[in-house]
Amino acid sequence: MAADFSPLEDGDIPPSQPPLKSKQPLLAIDLDDVLMATNETIAQWHNVSFGTDMTLGHFYYYHYWKNPYWGTPHETLTKVHAFYQSDAFRNAPPVDGAIAGVAELRKMGLRLVIVTARGSTQRQETEEWVSKHLPGCIEAIYFTGEYVRERFSTNATPRAGKPAIIRDIGAFALIDDSLDNAVSCATELQPHLPVILFGSYQWNRRHSPLTRSLEGQVTYAERSATESEWWKRDVVDDDALPPTVRRVADWKQVVPIIRVLLSEVSSHVNDVEPI
Ligand SMILES: [Mg+2]
Repeated sequence: MAADFSPLEDGDIPPSQPPLKSKQPLLAIDLDDVLMATNETIAQWHNVSFGTDMTLGHFYYYHYWKNPYWGTPHETLTKVHAFYQSDAFRNAPPVDGAIAGVAELRKMGLRLVIVTARGSTQRQETEEWVSKHLPGCIEAIYFTGEYVRERFSTNATPRAGKPAIIRDIGAFALIDDSLDNAVSCATELQPHLPVILFGSYQWNRRHSPLTRSLEGQVTYAERSATESEWWKRDVVDDDALPPTVRRVADWKQVVPIIRVLLSEVSSHVNDVEPI
């Protein structure tokens, strides 16, 4: 059964900061490919469904249609919708080390929330997965509905992205595998938010901007017709990252960094107690 998570809709900002159960600092964590091994799972699902040889190494960019095998944005969203209906999605495993890492963060006295780009249409499956793998660890789940917003961007009411939600809930740091989310949260918020850019992933070494409507996006196949291996030119060097963004390979590297950040937060907040 799902726990009693926040009933907020896509991109909703809570009307006020969640009730403080204590003075414990609040840490925001992304779900897909930080806690749940989503891309590895969807690659396996895609191979079974479409007879491809997709691996995690083919995810050059955060947006799937920029990568091999996916097709147009419309075809990609249709596939992702089908994946969300599948047992593969419901049974996706955690990222290596995530369960132990979250347990360590809880022992450090942190309150943990998930801030995900998923839409609230995936609320039930998301809550069930979190309740199964991280029972009692996550205080709330915020859905930005990024893909819903992109899909209907011509008439949708503007919704809050991750920076606005994180600002409003007062998280002191974010763990996320998206380079664009990391940079926006580290530069748009004041003071600049500490962000842990998570994972040894191809897609978080490159920006994946959406400068046109979805239908105007250039697909991998289209670009392949005129260029070769352009993704190698798009790599962002670590020294070009904002100063508050730290790249880590895995959960073993997360915990020590959060411990240092927490000590800085704790110097401003009295009485941080282990849970
Ligand atoms: Mg993610």
